[in-house]
Amino acid sequence: MGSRTLDIWRGIACVLFPILATTGAYAASRGTDTPDIHYDITVNIDPVARSIEGRSVITANTPEELTLVLGRRFGVMHARVDGTSLGPAASMGKMRAWGISGIAGEGQLPRRIEVHWQGDLSALDASLDHSQTLGRDEPASGEAGTFLPDSSGWYPYIAGKLASYQVNIELPAGQRGIVPGRLMEESDSDKGYRARFEFPSPTGGIDLMAGPYTVETGAMRGAGGKPIRLRTYFHPQIADLAPAYLDSVKGYIELYESWIGEYPFTEFSVVSSPTPTGFGMPTLTYLGIEVLRLPFIRSTSLGHEVLHNWWGNGVYPDYAKGNWSEGLTTFMADYAYKERGSSEAALDMRRGWLRDFAALSPGQDASLASFTSRTHGATQIVGYNKAAMIFLMLRDLLGRETFDRALQTFWREQRFRVASWADLQRAFEAASGQDLSVFFDQWLTRAGAPVLRIAEAEPVKSDSGPHRVTVTLEQGDPAYRLRVPVAIHTAEGEELRTLDLEKPRQTFILDIGAQPLQVTLDPDLRLFRRLMPEEAPPILRQVMVDRTAATILLPENGETRGAAETLATKIQNRAPKLVSAADTPPVAPTLVIGLQDQVNAWLARHQLPARPEIVGNKGSAQAWTVSRADGGTLAIVSARDPASLVALMRPLPHYGRQSYVVFEGAKMIGRGSWPTRSQVVKLD
Ligand SMILES: [Zn+2]
Repeated sequence: MGSRTLDIWRGIACVLFPILATTGAYAASRGTDTPDIHYDITVNIDPVARSIEGRSVITANTPEELTLVLGRRFGVMHARVDGTSLGPAASMGKMRAWGISGIAGEGQLPRRIEVHWQGDLSALDASLDHSQTLGRDEPASGEAGTFLPDSSGWYPYIAGKLASYQVNIELPAGQRGIVPGRLMEESDSDKGYRARFEFPSPTGGIDLMAGPYTVETGAMRGAGGKPIRLRTYFHPQIADLAPAYLDSVKGYIELYESWIGEYPFTEFSVVSSPTPTGFGMPTLTYLGIEVLRLPFIRSTSLGHEVLHNWWGNGVYPDYAKGNWSEGLTTFMADYAYKERGSSEAALDMRRGWLRDFAALSPGQDASLASFTSRTHGATQIVGYNKAAMIFLMLRDLLGRETFDRALQTFWREQRFRVASWADLQRAFEAASGQDLSVFFDQWLTRAGAPVLRIAEAEPVKSDSGPHRVTVTLEQGDPAYRLRVPVAIHTAEGEELRTLDLEKPRQTFILDIGAQPLQVTLDPDLRLFRRLMPEEAPPILRQVMVDRTAATILLPENGETRGAAETLATKIQNRAPKLVSAADTPPVAPTLVIGLQDQVNAWLARHQLPARPEIVGNKGSAQAWTVSRADGGTLAIVSARDPASLVALMRPLPHYGRQSYVVFEGAKMIGRGSWPTRSQVVKLD
C-alpha cells in the first residue's frame, strides 16, 4: 500500500543518501473513480504522551472476501463487521490481519466495518538519517513532529484496495496535523486543534503528519477557474521561507496545468519534517527542515514533487509491471528545467546520466519493467535516468506536439487509475498513429544498453556530382532498432543526419552538400547507450556502485588501516573486498586508499600514472580516477595524515560523479571530471 513517492535528489544526496524504498503493489484490479472502500477515521494524538486513539468506520461496497489489517502494536477495543464481532486476528509480521468472508449477493451492501483502537507511538528520533527514517516504517511522535506512515498500519485498512477517506485529526493546542486531501474544517482553541480532511478519489494509503507548525496560506485559481488553496506547514525556525515556497508552488501548478491538464486536487501544501525526509504525496510534499533550507530546492525538487500529483499520485503506476512515474517525472521536471535553462545544461544532464550508467558494470542493471522504486544507486540510474532518457528519445521520434498530446490524453483517461507502461504505449501510439511495440519492448524488457560505434566512415570519391560519405555503424547482437544521430563536419559547416539502424552492422550512404571532413556519432548524446571508454572517462562512482569492485588498503596496520577500511565501507556501502597491496591490481574496478607517500610509492611500483597535476598535493586529501591500459578503473584516495583520512568519511561518498576531488579537512575545495571525447572518424 501507499501512494507515497520517495525521492532523493542528486544535489542533496549528502542529506538524504542512501534510502531504502518502501513500496508495495496494489491489487491487480484497477481503480475506478468511485472506489468500493471508504474510510471514516477519527484519531486523537498526544505527541507528548506519544499515544494515539482512533475510531474508524469502513464502508465496503463489494461482496468479495476482504482482509482487514492493523499494526500489531495497537490494542483493539473492538472490531465488528455489520455488528458482528470479528474474531481473533492472525499475525503477519508487524501487522495483524482479519479475514472477512465474502457475501453471496449484493443485497446486503454496503458492509460496515467498525474498529476502535489505541496504542503507543515510537519516539521521534530527529538524528535518524533518511534511510533509517524510511527503513523503520514505524509510527513516530514527539513535540517536534509526528509521522505516521501508511506502511506502519496506524489505521485499519483493507489490504490491496484503493479507497477514499475522511480523516478527523485531534491534537493538543499548539500542534497542527495534516493528511493528503482537502481540508474541510479546522479549529484551534485552548482545548486543542481539530481538522477534517477528505480524499474523495480512490487512493492507496494515508500518511499523517503533525508538528508545532506555523501555517501560511496562499490561493490561486487553477485551469477552469477552480480555487486551489496553497499552504506551508513550517516549523517556526523556517517560517520566513513560506512566501517564497508558496510562490514557487503556484508557478509549478500553472506550468503543469498548461502542459498536461487540470491539477487534480484542491490544495497543495509543503510540510516540514524534523527528520531529513523527501516524500511526495497527493496534495503535499513532506521535506526535512534542513532540506527546505537549501536554496536550490525551490527551483528543482519542489517542482518534481508538485508534478507527482499528476504522475504517481494522480495516475498510479502498476508496480508489478514497472514504475514509469519516476522517469516521466524526472523528464518533465528535473530535465525540463535544464532544457529551459540552456541546451548546454540539458546536455550536461544527459551526459551525467550516461556516465552514471557507464559506471555500472555490464549485467549490474535490471530492466525497466522490473523497476518499482529506488533501493540503491543502480536502480536510480535505471528507474529515473534511463526512463527519463527513453521519454526524451520518444519525444525526438514523435515530435514535441504529438508527445505532449499523448500525455494529455493519458492523463484524461487514466486519472486516479492504476496504469502501466502498456497504457502509456497505447496513448503514444494513438496520438502518433505509429506502432511503437519495438521501441517500448526493447527499452523496457532488455537490461543494459546498446553499445554503438562507427566501424568505418569514408568519403566516396567522385570527380563530379554530389559529395558522398559512407558510414558503417556497429552494435551488439541482438540489435536494437535505433535512430542514430550523426554529424558530418564539412568544409562549410556541419550537417546532421539520423540513421535508422536495425542490424548489428549496417552501412549508410549519405549525400552531403560540401566536402566532408569528419563524422561524429551522436554528438549531442540523445541516445541511451553504453558510452565507450573514451566517451566516458571514469568517475569515482564506479568503485562505489560496482558490486565487483575490489579494495586495496595501503596502511599495513594500526589505526590508520582501520580508518582506511571504514572509509572503504562508507564509500561502497558494504564490506570491502580486500586484495593485497603487493599483487597486481585486479581487472575489476579497484579502490586504493593510503597516505600520500604510500600512494606515490604504490603507483610507481605498478607503473601507473603518477598523481595528476590538477590534484597534486593540494589540500589535505585527494581522490581521483585512473583508466588503466587494460580497461580497468582505479579510484585512488590519498591523505596527508591519518586525521585527513578520517575527515573524508562523511563528504567523500557524495562526490561519485566526479573524476577527481580535493579536500581540506572535510571541506571540498576542488573537483571536476576528466574531459569526454565524442566518437569521431576523420575522413581523408
Ligand atoms: Zn519522484
